[in-house]
Amino acid sequence: MDIIGIDLGTTNSVATVYTDDGLKHISFDGDFLLPSVVNVGSNGVIVGIKAKNMAMIEENNTAISIKRLMGSDTKITLNGKKFTPEEVSSFIIKRIKETTEQEMGMEYKRCVVTVPAYFNENQREATAQAVKLAGLEILRIINEPTSASIAYGANRDEDILYGIYDLGGGTFDISIIENSQGVIEVLSTTGDNRLGGDDFDEKLSTLIWKKSGFDIPLTNKLKIKLNQLSERTKVALSTEESVDIDEKFFATKDGEPLHLNLSVTKEEFENLIEKDIDRTVELLLETIEESNSDIDEIDAIILTGGSSRIPLISHKIFEKIGKLPILIEDPDKSVSIGAILQGAIIDGEDIDSILVDITPYSLGTSTLDNNYSFDLKLSKIILKNTSVPTSKTSRYYAVSDFQKMFEIDIYQGEDEEELDENVKIGDMLLEVKEPVENGAIDITFSLNQDGMLSVVGREINTGEIINGEFKTIISKSTKHSEVKKIDILNEHDKIIISKIDRVLDSNILEEDKEDLRELKKKYISAKSEDDKASLEEEIIDSIFFLEDAITDGV
Ligand code: AMP
Repeated sequence: MDIIGIDLGTTNSVATVYTDDGLKHISFDGDFLLPSVVNVGSNGVIVGIKAKNMAMIEENNTAISIKRLMGSDTKITLNGKKFTPEEVSSFIIKRIKETTEQEMGMEYKRCVVTVPAYFNENQREATAQAVKLAGLEILRIINEPTSASIAYGANRDEDILYGIYDLGGGTFDISIIENSQGVIEVLSTTGDNRLGGDDFDEKLSTLIWKKSGFDIPLTNKLKIKLNQLSERTKVALSTEESVDIDEKFFATKDGEPLHLNLSVTKEEFENLIEKDIDRTVELLLETIEESNSDIDEIDAIILTGGSSRIPLISHKIFEKIGKLPILIEDPDKSVSIGAILQGAIIDGEDIDSILVDITPYSLGTSTLDNNYSFDLKLSKIILKNTSVPTSKTSRYYAVSDFQKMFEIDIYQGEDEEELDENVKIGDMLLEVKEPVENGAIDITFSLNQDGMLSVVGREINTGEIINGEFKTIISKSTKHSEVKKIDILNEHDKIIISKIDRVLDSNILEEDKEDLRELKKKYISAKSEDDKASLEEEIIDSIFFLEDAITDGV
C-alpha cells in the first residue's frame, strides 16, 4: 500500500505506514518524532532535529511552528528567499516522503494527512497545497481528534461514549465521540487553533528570563535558545516538583559569560498556565453539552497530544467531571496511527470501522439585517456539528430590482449578530443570466469529507446553476516554482563542519579553539547517527556561545 499516514504537527510530525506485518512508524534521525522545523541553506533544505539545532545559530534561515501560519497570507523570509507557509510545510512533507521511501524501499504516492478539527477552510486548503507541492496525492484530510479516536476505537467491540481531549504544540481540539457497532461517530467538536504547548514555553521563557536577572537584550537568537530550554524544563515539570536549571555560558555581556542558574517549581509553572487549562476544561464541558449528552453518560475522557501529559490537566478534568482521564496509548503516535488506518480503510483493508465526522463550525454568508438598515448579519447555511459530507441550500433575495451580480461573502463562525466575530474565509461573485424584479438565488454550500467547502448558486427563474470562482485567502494562483528547485538534504555534516571552520578562523581564544577542534574530530569520526546528533547539539551550543563572544568583540 503506497499510503503514508501523516500527523503534521506544530512541533513534531509523525509518519506511519501499513505493512503486512502491521503498522510501522518511520524513523527520522533515530526518532519517530520529526521536529517540524525547516532550515533553508544555500545548498538546500534541512528538516527535523538538525534544523532544530540550526535554529540556534541560523535563526533567520529557520522556520519553527509553521503550522501556526497555515492559511494566512504571511510570507516567511528564509535565507533571503520568500516562502509561503504551505511551501515551508511542503518541505516537511517532502522529507517525510523521501525518508519513508528510503526506509521502506518503495515509492509512496498517496497520504492521509491530519489537521486540527478547528482548522478553517483556508488552513485546510493550505495543508492540501503543501501535500501537493511535496509530490503526494491527498487521499483524505481528517481531523486530529477523530484520527486519535480511530486509533483508539477501530476494532473495539464495546459501545462507548467518550471525549478526546487533544492538546498539542500549537492547537487544542476536543471531540465527543460515540463508538457503536463499528461506527465511530463524532457528535460534537470544539477547539482553539491557537493554543498549545508553544504558548506554555513562551510563558515559561518569560518567567525564566525574569528570574535570570540578566541585564541584556533578549535577542532572537537567545529567545530561541531560551524557548528550547523552557520546553525541556516544562516537560521535566510533568514528572518533577521542581527543576534546577544550570546552564553555563548561556549568554555573554561585554565579552563575559553569563551563567543561568535558577530553579522553577511545578507550582510556578502551573500558575502560569492555569487560566489556559481552565479554558480547555470549560470548552470540554461545552462540547459535552453540544453532543446532547450528560456528563454522567460519558464513559471516559481520553487524553492525546504531547501537552496533555501535563498533570494539571488531569486534575482539572477530574475536578469538573469526576472522572480521571486516561492517557491514550502512544499519545504521540495515535493521530498518525488513525490516519494510516483511515487510509487502509479507504484502500479496502479489512478494518471493522466506519467513520462519521462532522463540521466543527457553522458556515454561512453575510446578509443585510433588514430593508431599513445596512447592518450585516451572518446567515448560517451549514450548522456546526453537521455530519460531513453535507450539502445545504438557502434562498437569498436581491437588494435591488433587476440585480445582475450577487456578491457572496463566506464566513465561518457562530455569531449571527456580530459579523466581525466570525472568520471570513472567502468570497465569490455570482452573475445571473436573466435579472428580474425582486430577484432571488439559491445558494448551496457543500462540504466534502475533508471539511472543504464548495459553493454554487442557482437562478430561480431559469433554474440554471451559476458557478463562480470561490476565492479563499490562500491565493490559488500563488506561484510555487521556487520549491521544486530546492533539494531536501538528509546529510548536512558539511554545513556543520563549515560552521566550525568559520568560528575556528575567527579571533577566539586559543583554548576555545582547542575545545572546538576536539569536538570537530569527534564529530567526523562519530560512528552512529545518534552519536552525531548529540555531538551536533554540543557543537551548536559552543558555536552559539563563541559567535556571541565574537560579536561582543572578544
Ligand atoms: P504534539 O503536537 O502532540 O506532538 O505535542 C507537542 C507538544 O507537547 C510540545 O509543546 C511539547 O513540548 C509538549 N510535550 C511533550 N511531552 C510533554 C510532557 N511530558 N509534558 C508537557 N508537555 C509535553
